Amino acid sequence: SKFVFVDKDTCIACGACGEDAPNIFEYDEEGLSEVALDNNTGTGAVPEDLEEELLDAEEGCPTESIKVADTPFQNKAANE
Ligand code: SF4
Repeated sequence: SKFVFVDKDTCIACGACGEDAPNIFEYDEEGLSEVALDNNTGTGAVPEDLEEELLDAEEGCPTESIKVADTPFQNKAANE
């Protein structure tokens, strides 16, 4: 499985990830990206049928703010 969260400290609200993976990313009121699936905690497994678009978004992020791993993150993004 894949797990993902957005580092909102480095996200520049460019909108690219939502184009690549509209089923994974949404935007807050400042236009910063966050993972819709698990409230951007990096603890919820991305559905397998969304993994390809996830990797497209990860590659396409100009600031490397999309953090992807094979195991759950320890709630890294929840301290926003
Ligand atoms: Fe933020 Fe990267 Fe998504 Fe652009 S592609 S909105 S910088 S996370």
